[in-house]
Amino acid sequence: MLSIKDLHARVEQKPILRGLSLEVKAGEVHAIMGPNGSGKSTLSQVLAGREDYIVESGSVEWMGRDLLSMPIEERARSGLFLAFQYPIEIPGVSNAYFLRTAVNAARRHQGLPELDAMDFIKRVKAEMKAVGMKEEFLYRSVNEGFSGGEKKRNEVLQMTLLEPKLAILDETDSGLDIDALKVVADGVNRLRSPERALIVITHYQRLLDYIVPDFVHVLAGGRIVRTGGRELALELEERGYGWISEAEARKG
Ligand code: ADP
Ligand code: MG
Ligand code: MG
Repeated sequence: MLSIKDLHARVEQKPILRGLSLEVKAGEVHAIMGPNGSGKSTLSQVLAGREDYIVESGSVEWMGRDLLSMPIEERARSGLFLAFQYPIEIPGVSNAYFLRTAVNAARRHQGLPELDAMDFIKRVKAEMKAVGMKEEFLYRSVNEGFSGGEKKRNEVLQMTLLEPKLAILDETDSGLDIDALKVVADGVNRLRSPERALIVITHYQRLLDYIVPDFVHVLAGGRIVRTGGRELALELEERGYGWISEAEARKG
């Protein structure tokens, strides 16, 4: 589904990703962990196609296509969903309008009929209940004045409605209380299916108590330096990231 090969990317003149490779198949849940500044968010920005992030070399194949040459909107329409560490606010655009536009764009892409206002409201209200959001959030501007927890719930709502083929969550757990964390985890777990893949980027192993990954990768210095099962996350929790950097340094 997603195949990243030897990816090198920089921000301004600074090389950040330095030979990152990762294979994700449908049905799999991957966790990417790593110290602060190791390039986790850079990876999600590169996949999203943010223009400040310059790909120097390497390839990203997505559903048999060259992701890096796809326009940004096309990436989303083709079923790639990215939830960022810092969700954007869109003043003057209601959450309901934003969600319906995004959902209908995705449906058109899949050859499905658009949802009319009534059908959409019915669906969105049911999903809002599931993530514990009050209906008033439909009529507020996207993320404007939302608390951290409310933004995350809203992200899970977007993700659930869009039914992406691959969802990437970048530190969706940072700064969340335990209730909001469970909402995120429940949303992700409800999305798990044999046709879908998930990449959960997190600094802490806490979220992985609720979202049990098939694979855990450690990103350090812009590359994946370790891959294991969920036990690797527990080991990181216990020992921190220092031992991995030291082991890497010894390797040269
Ligand atoms: P992580 O998400 O693993 O904490 P990031 O990908 O955010 O790491 O950052 C990796 C490195 O790239 C850091 O040193 C960070 O300062 C730098 N970086 C990321 N984005 C930018 C940017 N827009 N401008 C300058 N430096 C950046
Ligand atoms: Mg960070
Ligand atoms: Mg980050």
